[in-house]
Amino acid sequence: MKRPSILVLGAGYGGLATVVNLQKVLGTDAADITLINKNEYHYESTWLHEAAAGTMLPEQVRYDIKDVIDGVKVKFVQATVEAIDVTGKKVSTDNGDFTYDYIVIALGFEGETFGIEGLDKYALSIANVTAARYIREHIEYQFATWSSEEVKDDSRLTIVVGGAGFTGIEFLGELANRVPELCKEFDVPREKVRVVCVEAAPMVLPGFDPELVNYAVGNLEAKGIEFSIGTPVVEATPEGVNIKKGDDEFEFIKAGTVVWAAGVRGSKLIESTPIENMRARVKVEKDLRAPGFEDVFIVGDCALMINEETNRPFPPTAQIAMQQGEAAAKNISALIKGEETHAFEPDLKGTVCSLGEDDAIGVVFGRKVTGKRASFMKKMIDNRALYMIGGPSLVMKKGKFNVL
Ligand code: FAD
Ligand code: NAD
Repeated sequence: MKRPSILVLGAGYGGLATVVNLQKVLGTDAADITLINKNEYHYESTWLHEAAAGTMLPEQVRYDIKDVIDGVKVKFVQATVEAIDVTGKKVSTDNGDFTYDYIVIALGFEGETFGIEGLDKYALSIANVTAARYIREHIEYQFATWSSEEVKDDSRLTIVVGGAGFTGIEFLGELANRVPELCKEFDVPREKVRVVCVEAAPMVLPGFDPELVNYAVGNLEAKGIEFSIGTPVVEATPEGVNIKKGDDEFEFIKAGTVVWAAGVRGSKLIESTPIENMRARVKVEKDLRAPGFEDVFIVGDCALMINEETNRPFPPTAQIAMQQGEAAAKNISALIKGEETHAFEPDLKGTVCSLGEDDAIGVVFGRKVTGKRASFMKKMIDNRALYMIGGPSLVMKKGKFNVL
């Protein structure tokens, strides 16, 4: 009998967790497993703000996929997926076509610009390791240009961060520490540099614990970060952003760098399939299958699940993506063995938001944490994610041990 073929698209948290768990639950001859990813490396999306600010080297954020998969059980193909035909069970890539019996779509997130004019063209997004490296280089270029130009344009030294969600705040935490280093390196007076966070909602980190939010804002402001709250970005131009301050009141912030961190969506490829989706996120069945497609599993940021306690979607996080990968692997194994699939239940341990190298805020197992203790926990969470994919050797290679 022909072995079933399993295709996993994307080697982010969700895709790698799927593959690593498929390796565990399926014997060598049980299935043909193929993992397709754009790059030969995986990057830790949860560390991208560090690479973007320049507080961590881009190389540290990524590792080779072949180092963490079992080459006997899983075939890795470096390719960019171009189309997914869920009716014909075929995937087209720039490196050939692939057919499948079961597919796991784990293609992750893309920045969401909500159709706001100019953002696609003029703002930078912390979307992947290449984009993060570009942001780092762009900011350094602005500092270097300011230093060398005769007629100085101070707006080169203004950095606007759109969105005070977790990504925006974590990036600001890194920038707050990086700016003094850049000033020293490029002979720029600190007072010439502006870092402005623009948030549409009436508060920073909307919905998060207000006491922790005050702690974060206080510490970031003390390091020179400015906040403009309740003032959505409505347009980006080559010179900066326009923000809405009142019914008919707008302010233009001239800036050499605009980083857009105001929300995410799923992979655009989902939108060209007949699978029902909202901003490329699919409201999956309880066992993580796409509605109406028994052989299609969706995990990570392309999947959408409603939290029945709050009646709101679970936020797209690495924590959930990895748990979904494990659950999808077990459910595919069950189907191959002719057994029933199981409903996926997220096991939420909490949220920790870093504020730079040595500071953070969080709620862990229902308890609030701040400062160095929270920062230590964040590093342990980061190391745990490495451990779950690559075991102790990956933690030794890539782990965060600079605990203060
Ligand atoms: P991803 O990790 O985005 O992986 C998708 C993979 O698919 C990538 O390898 C990509 O290269 C590949 N891919 C995409 N398109 C194609 C294609 N067409 N062809 C082939 N391959 C393709 N969550 C937390 O839980 N905790 C945190 O602390 C945290 N911090 C974050 C910090 C930042 C700066 C950001 C941006 C996000 C953070 N998140 C955090 C959210 C978390 O990173 C995402 O929820 C998580 O990455 C989703 O995992 P995923 O597997 O769905 O996708
Ligand atoms: P988000 O959707 O959580 O936050 C986006 C922010 O941008 C919101 O505060 C929103 O009000 C604001 N915004 C939207 N439109 C705007 C506009 N026009 N002008 C100004 N502000 C605007 O997105 P994110 O921060 O990128 O996070 C994405 C996901 O990744 C979330 O699920 C988050 O929980 C997760 N994440 C987690 C961590 C962590 O756990 N430490 C870190 C980063 C990201």
